Amino acid sequence: MSAESESVDLLVVGSGPAGQKAAIQAAKAGRRVLVIEQECQVGGACVHAGTIPSKTLRETASALVSFKQRSANLFEVKMSPDLEVASLMARLEQVVKAHERTITEQLRRNHVERWHGRARFVSPHEVDILAVDGTKRRVHAQLIAIASGSRPRAPKDVPIDHERILDSDSILSMTYLPESLDPVVDPGDALELYVVSGVS
Ligand SMILES: Cc1cc2nc3c(=O)[nH]c(=O)nc-3n(C[C@H](O)[C@H](O)[C@H](O)COP(=O)(O)OP(=O)(O)OC[C@H]3O[C@@H](n4cnc5c(N)ncnc54)[C@H](O)[C@@H]3O)c2cc1C
Repeated sequence: MSAESESVDLLVVGSGPAGQKAAIQAAKAGRRVLVIEQECQVGGACVHAGTIPSKTLRETASALVSFKQRSANLFEVKMSPDLEVASLMARLEQVVKAHERTITEQLRRNHVERWHGRARFVSPHEVDILAVDGTKRRVHAQLIAIASGSRPRAPKDVPIDHERILDSDSILSMTYLPESLDPVVDPGDALELYVVSGVS
């Protein structure tokens, strides 16, 4: 352990579901735990790009469609396509923020420390944490849990430009609905979007 290192029992890289569970379990067992997250908010892909966004969009879209269908004979419900996307995204932001708050509070309640920065191993028990302002802190940990998740695959033969060819992250930033979608790599994500948007 280098002289300037801080020390914890468990260091967790990543605040997605895997990192959260590891951190909370260890904290409940009385360990000093530090979670490192490179994004400014906790939750990982699950909250920001995966499960929660896709299911929130799907549920909101289903509710809208069902409301339109059920009220069809009583009064007319009409929304412009732009407004439909805007309402879906506004609802998504509310749900994501609620999840972030719950996770942050759960970590705080269990006395799990959290640093914002990118973790990099310098030895089997030491990690450097690079903050966004360029400062670096070294931490020594008896145990290190790597819960760094995954990122969308970018096959060499698929020129993902995030405008016409999107991956599962950039599809969440669409501000309009396309007329049609063709799944290139993962039909699962595209299918979820078909359900949400009703595009062909
Ligand atoms: C579109 C989509 C839909 C999905 N739907 C479902 C579903 O319905 N049900 C389901 O069970 N799963 C679903 N998933 C999968 C689910 O999101 C993942 O399985 C889950 O998020 C994995 O959790 P994790 O903690 O391993 O990693 P992640 O959630 O990816 O978290 C990893 C975290 O580590 C951080 N990190 C990485 N490297 C570093 C570093 N060096 N230093 C500091 N921090 C770092 C990242 O910023 C990230 O926040 C879906 C995924 C996608 C993309």
